[in-house]
Amino acid sequence: MENKKSSAVWKLFNQVKVDGKEVTVCCLCKAVTPYLGNKRNLWFHLERGDAKHKEEYAALKPQKQPAPKRRRT
Ligand SMILES: [Zn+2]
Repeated sequence: MENKKSSAVWKLFNQVKVDGKEVTVCCLCKAVTPYLGNKRNLWFHLERGDAKHKEEYAALKPQKQPAPKRRRT
């Protein structure tokens, strides 16, 4: 069990129960994906989806930042 749904991917998926089974619903295309206990297939769904999915995927996934810039806040 993971501690909480703190993962960024949950911003784009809703977890619901259908017929007693945990499934996830993509907020972008309403596709229903079985929830297999990990988020891998959720990320995979975003990665292989259309342009909007890829955009969200790119925004959410942990990114390696070669030259971190400091921002003034
Ligand atoms: Zn989708």
